[in-house]
Parts: sequence; structure tokens; C-alpha cells
Amino acid sequence: MGEAPYTLGTWKGLTTYKCPLCPFDCMDSAQAIEHYRAHSAKPPAPREESRPVTLALDDTGHLVVATPEPEPKPIPEPVETVTPVRKRRKSKKGV
Ligand SMILES: [Zn+2]
Repeated sequence: MGEAPYTLGTWKGLTTYKCPLCPFDCMDSAQAIEHYRAHSAKPPAPREESRPVTLALDDTGHLVVATPEPEPKPIPEPVETVTPVRKRRKSKKGV
């Protein structure tokens, strides 16, 4: 299987278990393994930001839960090539 998730070191003649990912070290292999697992453990997925809910009564007295719409994303403006502004010329036709 894989290698031990720690590197061995010595501290004052004692064996220490160092985390290869951070400066953490301890003198207990089980603790070192547990610590190492914490690195690989994925952090809990960030919960969707709870949006404020508005409670209101409608005309019939029923409770209405109005959940505001999520903010619309700004629509990126299409990149246009700059066209020279044409001056309107008055037509000499007519009149
Ligand atoms: Zn670590």
C-alpha cells in the first residue's frame, strides 16, 4: 500500500512524526496519520448563501413566502468594433 503519511524525525532522541504537508509534527504515529488525513479530507462544500426570505400575507390572508430572485449576473457587453458616428445629413429631396 502507500507509504506512511509522515516522515520520521528525531527530537531529543525521540522519534517524531512529521507531516509532509505542513510543519506539523508529533510523537504519536496515530496522531500523525490522523492529522494527515485531515489534509486530504475535503472541506465541506460551502453551503449556498441563504437568501433572506420575505414573509407576507396576500390579499386572501394566505401566508406568502417571497424568495427574492438571485441577483442577475451582469451581461457582458458584446465587444464591438467602433464604428464612426454617422452624421445625419438632411435629405435635399422632397419639400
Ligand atoms: Zn499537516
